Amino acid sequence: MLLITCPHCGVSGEETEFAPGGEAHLKRFGPGSEEGEFAGYLFYRKNPKGPHFERWRHAYGCGKWFHVARDTVTLEIFGAYKATETAPPQEILDRIAARGKA
Ligand SMILES: [Zn+2]
Repeated sequence: MLLITCPHCGVSGEETEFAPGGEAHLKRFGPGSEEGEFAGYLFYRKNPKGPHFERWRHAYGCGKWFHVARDTVTLEIFGAYKATETAPPQEILDRIAARGKA
C-alpha cells in the first residue's frame, strides 16, 4: 500500500484515496509533428525498475493533480510535488540519489 501526501492540501492517505494518471513529464506532440514523435507521445511509456515519476490525482480529496516520485520495486515514495513543476525538485532528486547509501 502506498502512503501518499498531497502537495496541495497536505493530506496523507492510502493510494485508494488517489487516482493514478500515468507517467509524468511527458513532452506533448500535436498536429504538425513527426508521425513517430506523435505515436511516441500517444503510445510509448517508460516502465522502469526503480525510480519513476508519475501523475496522481487526489480523487477523494481536493481533486488536484500532482506528481509523485516513487520506486517501482520497493514502493518507497521519494516525494510529491505540484503538477505545475516542469521537472522534479532537486531535494527529491537528492533523495533518489541517496537511497541505499545509509
Ligand atoms: Zn489534496
